[in-house]
Amino acid sequence: MEDCLFCKIINKQIKSEFVYEDDDLVCIKDIHPQAPIHLLIISKKHISTVLDISEEDEKLIGKIVRIATKISKQFNIDESGFRLIFNCKKDGGQTIYHIHLHLIGGKRLKWTQ
Ligand code: AMP
Ligand code: ZN
Repeated sequence: MEDCLFCKIINKQIKSEFVYEDDDLVCIKDIHPQAPIHLLIISKKHISTVLDISEEDEKLIGKIVRIATKISKQFNIDESGFRLIFNCKKDGGQTIYHIHLHLIGGKRLKWTQ
């Protein structure tokens, strides 16, 4: 996906610090953090939105969630808690059409609209 920002970050065409990386995922710090801890767990496979997840991706999606919880421990927010969010399309506030799980914590979060 030539014009996808997250594909470029994953392919190291755009420099970014990886908090975590394995064969399937990377994790980076969000450039506009909404809380003291705001990380993005990004699938290496380009999937545009959660609507495009297929049956063969089920294991990958489970891994994204599991690794997010692992990273929550690394950032010491597992005791206090956190929020995991997949935004989807316009009304969901999705701006980058390459699936990523937001891991947000480090303060008491208000519920959204
Ligand atoms: P979403 O709005 O759910 O698509 O999430 C995209 C997120 O990516 C937003 O929270 C942005 O702040 C974040 N973002 C955009 N560009 C970058 C970047 N170069 N590095 C890290 N985070 C970014
Ligand atoms: Zn992409």
